[in-house]
Amino acid sequence: MKPKIAVFEFSSCEGCQLMFANLEAEILEVLGAVEIVNFREIMTEKGDDYQIAFVEGAITQESEIERLKKIREQAKVLVALGACAHLGGVNCMKNYQDQEEVRRYVYKERAEWFDTIPARPLSAVVPVDYAVPGCPIDKKELLEVTKSLLLGKKPSLPDYPVCVECKMAENICVFDKGMTCLGPVTRAGCATICPTFGNKCEGCRGLVDNPNVNSHKQVLQEHGLSVQGILNSFRMFEGYLEVAK
Ligand code: SF4
Ligand code: SF4
Ligand code: SF4
Repeated sequence: MKPKIAVFEFSSCEGCQLMFANLEAEILEVLGAVEIVNFREIMTEKGDDYQIAFVEGAITQESEIERLKKIREQAKVLVALGACAHLGGVNCMKNYQDQEEVRRYVYKERAEWFDTIPARPLSAVVPVDYAVPGCPIDKKELLEVTKSLLLGKKPSLPDYPVCVECKMAENICVFDKGMTCLGPVTRAGCATICPTFGNKCEGCRGLVDNPNVNSHKQVLQEHGLSVQGILNSFRMFEGYLEVAK
């Protein structure tokens, strides 16, 4: 029997599901080995019998908690798809605002119709087995994670910081251009795409397992900066962690 896969979304831009759907040719390799029973972006059927659930998006409404728990009850393996699901992501920026004000700003005169709670990653509600990090996810990494799951292996992600890939790419460090960067503590695997194009790393792939905080502090000190001074940078993707501390 082919393993059954389902893809679900919560609060998100659906960009990570789109990356999944855009696997096109590559997904044909996988499609032969699985049955997709639920994936709103690509099919109308909605099956409730699945073993692997890929879940995109953060939890931002009370009603989403129950829905996620039901998915967790059904799935043998639950994979957080992208930074929103993995870290809370950009959704958690609202946690630093007055919640009522945010609700009125977004829903205007219909604000009463919608509940809103502080945004959180999936793992704050249910156990999550694996994550495909990034905003958006990387298609190749998703494919590798899916293949590992189908082979019954634990998917592995790079556990070294973006700086390693950045040095190998011989990029000029953005600190030397007067910018800050979360590369020293962020999980690699994105081919250091932001620094390669002259931008700072915003930390969308989350922290490495044992971030070398001292080394990051040292880099900051060398450039006349402090941890306190860059805390706001973590709020783009890691805001939930900061609140949860
Ligand atoms: S992680 Fe980024 S691309 Fe993926 S759903 Fe969230 S905002 Fe969209
Ligand atoms: S701090 Fe940023 S720009 Fe500098 S080496 Fe590390 S990842 Fe590259
Ligand atoms: S460089 Fe940083 S922000 Fe950019 S994709 Fe990689 S992890 Fe994400």
